[in-house]
Amino acid sequence: MLSGIDRAGSAPALLSPAVLMAFFESRASTRKKCGNPCQTWGASMISFSLTEEQIQLQQTARKFAKEEIRPISFEYDRKPDPRDCVPMDVVRKGIELGFSTMTIPSEYGGGGCSALDFAIVCEEVAWGDAGLAGTVCGSGRLGVSPILCVGTESQKRKWLTEICANPNGAYLTAFALTEPGCGSDAASEDPSAGVRTTAKRTGDSYILKGAKCFISNGGLASLYVVLAKTDITKGASEGLSAFLVPAGLPGFSIGKIEDKIGFRLCQNAELVFENVLLPQENLLGSEGDGLRVAMDALCSDGFLAGAIAVGLARAAFEAAVNYARERVQGGQPILYHQAVGTMLVDMAILVEASRNLLWKCCWNLDQVGPSVPLASAAKVFCSDAAHQITSKAIEVLGGYGLMKDHCCPNFQGWAHLVPCKSAS
Ligand SMILES: Cc1cc2nc3c(=O)[nH]c(=O)nc-3n(C[C@H](O)[C@H](O)[C@H](O)COP(=O)(O)OP(=O)(O)OC[C@H]3O[C@@H](n4cnc5c(N)ncnc54)[C@H](O)[C@@H]3O)c2cc1C
Repeated sequence: MLSGIDRAGSAPALLSPAVLMAFFESRASTRKKCGNPCQTWGASMISFSLTEEQIQLQQTARKFAKEEIRPISFEYDRKPDPRDCVPMDVVRKGIELGFSTMTIPSEYGGGGCSALDFAIVCEEVAWGDAGLAGTVCGSGRLGVSPILCVGTESQKRKWLTEICANPNGAYLTAFALTEPGCGSDAASEDPSAGVRTTAKRTGDSYILKGAKCFISNGGLASLYVVLAKTDITKGASEGLSAFLVPAGLPGFSIGKIEDKIGFRLCQNAELVFENVLLPQENLLGSEGDGLRVAMDALCSDGFLAGAIAVGLARAAFEAAVNYARERVQGGQPILYHQAVGTMLVDMAILVEASRNLLWKCCWNLDQVGPSVPLASAAKVFCSDAAHQITSKAIEVLGGYGLMKDHCCPNFQGWAHLVPCKSAS
């Protein structure tokens, strides 16, 4: 990258002729390399070619999904007791591969990867099982991005290093904002609405009191980032704060484990805090940083949910194409009946469009910074597309699409859950 050209590729007002010449030369060589003579100013901003490292990452994740996740996915998804649905040995393997720590900077022991690298991996893992992607890849954002967002250097060094060291072999994180009486309202500026969990300061400690619900990785995580009111007379922007709460602290217990209609390889649970004593250093950043953390979580969640949706949509599309190739009706494979072919083409278009918006969202996060509207757009579009694609997959399969021993009903169950993963 030339000095004098900002990261988004736009030119500052004045450039010396020498700098301009060098810039145009670099653009010309980019055009030659990618073979597209139409690309002009700002062209290097857009590239859909993965690097060799990204292709390796993608292949590693694809192999993991195919060999480790797919063979057990439906068996675990259908276990009657939700407490039995997370295959911890597979989760451990995903963590060992670095899929839950890849966006943590390398100085703390993480992979130092970009949002795009992460989305590529997440799509593959979700192709194997959307819920498992929520558990393993989700862990890499849920408790991690709040620490990166507002954590002090000593908090980053302590907690991110611990997450990467993976001391118990299955170190997961969780993010706890939602409460029984507070979902979409979490950012409310009305002091009488929003989060009711409180963290009351006493000397150099805080006393945490309240309950959270639907928390992904609840009951499995080693570290929870919990949002609580440090000032109940104020709205979210001043009164909400974030705390680091390790599992097992006295007074912290796990309540109901949710019995979901799909996405069951991710565990969702109620968290109960009964006068949990937290040292001052567990306040993440400063008092009042909670809303920033929540907004950052929306960005993280947007591209995470988008990537999971693309992976599961692709899985449903592939299942439908394979079935349509083999199922013969009216004297030929149903693939060749125009009505079926049109559905498959519509599905392919939606997968492609979803991935493009997702990658744009990741590019923006990597090159420019977080954007809540773009992250929300990726989440809404990709999860809506996954809904449509999984419904069409069921249609392509006819009666077989409604039988539980086929994968497509599972895919549709997963698709229902993806957009709910957080408020937008
Ligand atoms: C699989 C799964 C994983 C989850 N993981 C986590 C997690 O890890 N951490 C966490 O904190 N939470 C988590 N959640 C909770 C999730 O973030 C909430 O479900 C979500 O924020 C919505 O809140 P709610 O369910 O209370 O719905 P509500 O906020 O009660 O909304 C109910 C309906 O009303 C609509 N609505 C609400 N407010 C408005 C408004 N102002 N205008 C118009 N319509 C409105 C909503 O769109 C929705 O249709 C998870 C949920 C699921 C299902």
